[in-house]
Amino acid sequence: MTYVERVLSDLKTNNPNEPEFHQAATEILTTLAPVLEKHPEYEAAGLLERFVEPERVIMFRVAWVDDSGKTRVNKGYRVQFNSAIGPYKGGLRFHPSVNLSIIKFLGLEQILKNSLTGLPIGGGKGGSDFDPKGKSDREIMAFCQSFMTELYRHIGADTDVPAGDIGVGGREIGYLFGQYKRIRDEHTGVLTGRGLTYGGSLARTEATGYGLIYITEEALKMRGDSFKGKTVIISGSGNVAIYACQKAQSLGAKVVAMYDSNGYVYDPNGIQLEVIKDIKEVKRGRIKEYADKVKTATYKDGCKGIWSIPCDIALPCATQNEIDKQSAELLVKNGVKFVAEGANMPSTLEAIEIFQRNNVVFLPAKAANAGGVATSALEMAQSSGRMYWSFDEVDAKLKNIMVNIYHNIDSAAKDYGFDGNYVMGANIAGFIKVASAMMAHGIV
Ligand code: NDP
Repeated sequence: MTYVERVLSDLKTNNPNEPEFHQAATEILTTLAPVLEKHPEYEAAGLLERFVEPERVIMFRVAWVDDSGKTRVNKGYRVQFNSAIGPYKGGLRFHPSVNLSIIKFLGLEQILKNSLTGLPIGGGKGGSDFDPKGKSDREIMAFCQSFMTELYRHIGADTDVPAGDIGVGGREIGYLFGQYKRIRDEHTGVLTGRGLTYGGSLARTEATGYGLIYITEEALKMRGDSFKGKTVIISGSGNVAIYACQKAQSLGAKVVAMYDSNGYVYDPNGIQLEVIKDIKEVKRGRIKEYADKVKTATYKDGCKGIWSIPCDIALPCATQNEIDKQSAELLVKNGVKFVAEGANMPSTLEAIEIFQRNNVVFLPAKAANAGGVATSALEMAQSSGRMYWSFDEVDAKLKNIMVNIYHNIDSAAKDYGFDGNYVMGANIAGFIKVASAMMAHGIV
């Protein structure tokens, strides 16, 4: 058994019933063999065993009272995975599917993603199985206050800086920050994605979606191509999807389909983003309403069908494992040339293999969606420096970071003999920095 096989096998035995964590660890570890061969000292120092074991896992009860006066109880999580290169950093996800396996897969991915940004941030992730859908503002506030009443003792501007993720947007960050400030009596950069009136950064809302488009644009440019005239499919209609759509359209692409967790809309004339924004951001409604408002559009129940629409570029921006083997085969058959992951782990291992085998340019999440956390790190820099940068300044830094990430993962893939394999490139480039810092710190 190789070192990687042994660590993966032990991980599966020691962490049973955590399929998403196993999937992410397999995707990462199986690409690291060439680095481990170059550095036999890593095995001697048990580096991989330490890399896959979170430094700290915090699980807690979140009790709150709903509008009918009934007591509700949810599970809260914060996984502080790796602080070798900086304070733990990663979002909070509020969704009924949240469990320890999902938070650990996200945390593990986050370590390498944060490393790729080139900024000093470690990896963490958290959340709850609380479902914000259909809850009143008061219920959301009650939940967030209860969640923070435990979380506050584990986080801090130099320790662990959470942000948003699925189900956690500006409203939730506001309530969480308010409670932190009340308990700690500190107005610090302890959360990112804050509102502009209390320490947030311009362009943070747009950052993940814009960043996804910037890195894809660079991959296109390196092949003498651009977004102009391309047909694009974007899954999801949340924060990442909306701003990916906006930037892609501004570069001349035609986005023809988007979805939410109930179904998808197809608009051959190109999605009218203002209508989507009004439904999802303002009214918190369902995407189905788009087809009632825009006559050229059709709505279909269920999400999977979206991948049967022919496109040049597919941008999965909703959730994990949304593109399986069958959907990947359909995309390839219909001529997809680029797949860039806005969501975390939206493609299954089989789907990635199909893209790579068919020469689809595949940009994995930890590189492609790193723009969000990179801009969060820029928000941290502005907070500690007590200063504000303009939208254009932040956007320019974001673009620069995404272009650098593309060239880093491209070079790493080439250096290790896997030209064009950006899964290898991203894992290797992200891992090298973390591994070197962990070695410098001794056995901890
Ligand atoms: P949002 O909550 O804003 O939007 C999520 C979107 O995905 C919604 O349209 C939602 O539909 C849909 N969705 C969620 N779960 C499912 C599901 N099981 N099946 C189908 N559709 C689903 O989240 P974000 O846009 O912030 O996050 C999207 C992805 O991007 C996640 O994987 C997240 O981890 C990743 N990401 C986000 C970053 C950020 O800065 N926000 C940074 C890096 C990665 P509905 O409206 O019906 O709930």
